Amino acid sequence: MAKVKGQKTKGPQGVQNRHIYNRASYLYQAATYFASQPHDAVAKSSSASVAAPNTNGQNATQNLSRQMISSMRAVSLKAQIRQSPALKRTICKFCDTLLIEGQTCNSTVENDSKGGRKPWADLLTIRCKTCGNAKRYPVNAPRQKRRSLRNQEKDESKMDVTSDSPADGQALETLSTKRDS
Ligand SMILES: [Zn+2]
Repeated sequence: MAKVKGQKTKGPQGVQNRHIYNRASYLYQAATYFASQPHDAVAKSSSASVAAPNTNGQNATQNLSRQMISSMRAVSLKAQIRQSPALKRTICKFCDTLLIEGQTCNSTVENDSKGGRKPWADLLTIRCKTCGNAKRYPVNAPRQKRRSLRNQEKDESKMDVTSDSPADGQALETLSTKRDS
């Protein structure tokens, strides 16, 4: 019940494209499942050889997981829905690998300021082991709101100013006098 209430505040008709959110969520969960699968399980079922099954199995589950993430992003793009920043941080945007700390990615804190003297310059660097690309996030800075929300706030403050100013009232008066005459 609480969920429905929360969604209703966003829009009058509840959540649009609910089935697409469901599908994206399902794909993400499937990708997490495949990424967390022990490599031996798939290797045993897929091949009987003993020498190479480990790497083959690993590649198979990794590729499946990547394929799921790729589909999820395709679905989101097609429907123009936005995934949460927290979710996007768990995906490598260069190769669609699900980033699991220690398994598919390495996280370090970097500080490029002179001698590391500026504590607010700390950057969390997440490097993907599959493709070697890294994403950097500021550690201490608060996240900026997205542009559409910032613009909305600006517009609202402008609207308040104009409605309070006497210019609008005058314009209305002149209009009404014109109608009368
Ligand atoms: Zn990657």
